[in-house]
Amino acid sequence: MNKQLVVVALGGNAILQPGQKGTFEEQYENIKSTCAQLAKMVLSGNYNIVITHGNGPQVGNLLLQNDIAKDTIPPMPLDICGAQSQGFIGYMMQQTLNNHFVEAGQENIPVATIVTQVLVDPKDPAFENPSKPVGAFYSEAEAKQLEAEKGFVMKEDAGRGWRRVVPSPQPLGIYEKNTVNDLLAANNVIITSGGGGIPVMLQDKKLVGIEAVIDKDRSGKVLAESIGADVLMILTDVNAVKINYGKPDEQDLSQVSVSKVEQLISEGHFAAGSMGPKVEACVSFAKKGKRSVIASLHEALEALEGKAGTTFLPD
Ligand code: ADP
Ligand code: MG
Repeated sequence: MNKQLVVVALGGNAILQPGQKGTFEEQYENIKSTCAQLAKMVLSGNYNIVITHGNGPQVGNLLLQNDIAKDTIPPMPLDICGAQSQGFIGYMMQQTLNNHFVEAGQENIPVATIVTQVLVDPKDPAFENPSKPVGAFYSEAEAKQLEAEKGFVMKEDAGRGWRRVVPSPQPLGIYEKNTVNDLLAANNVIITSGGGGIPVMLQDKKLVGIEAVIDKDRSGKVLAESIGADVLMILTDVNAVKINYGKPDEQDLSQVSVSKVEQLISEGHFAAGSMGPKVEACVSFAKKGKRSVIASLHEALEALEGKAGTTFLPD
């Protein structure tokens, strides 16, 4: 059997668990156990993987660091914070993946992180309507205070608390996709488009960074399409996509067709800003005749084999 090319999009819980502070040790331990799952996929011999990941809490912390230190060190814009987070998260993944491979007696599997720029349209309506949560969760009272004191735009996030929101434009293309393909051809495990990629636009054919955050699930789909992946797999903190989420009649979806999911989307089953973009990314990828999967981080390999999570199939 030919190896399948899988784009794996990791959710925030792959790097930081709810309730944790975000120390180096916590993040390293989480990444180590996440990468144990990913290493299993590679070591099975059945899959080549390209990894992408969220960075909301990490960028949120960098923003806060900048804000606290602003009188001593000039604050960096959001695109720079995105690049920083790609670098340090990629570093931890490169190291822990390598160590898992070495433990399994495989010392020659190269792992590389690409600082990745993703093209957006400067006229994207998202710039008028900030919607992407970044950083810590706050109470409503704290949120109001931050709005008043710092001019943040704060919104309630899926019943879990209040967070700062920034513009979330649509990804149009992965600027480094040829580099991804070259490294894939050389059998690398690749970490790319972290945090949805660094948003950039073209001005007179030249790149310029933009202060925004691109949804990593949307970019993951664009990435999967642009490198011709066989599977788009989105790993998160729930075991499956659910209908009637959070209600007494909540139900897991195990296998769904594109047309069935489109009906469920129109009925409003998937929250914007959390499950919504994941389901939309999966539908859009499956429409091209491919398979997409949403599953728990802890059941990645099982989900790839159709034994866990939610699988989206073309009609
Ligand atoms: P990630 O960091 O993995 O992107 P998100 O918090 O953005 O995680 O999305 C996962 C969350 O989506 C779940 O923890 C759950 O609270 C929420 N969610 C909203 N609607 C649904 C649904 N229909 N089925 C399952 N989870 C849902
Ligand atoms: Mg998310």
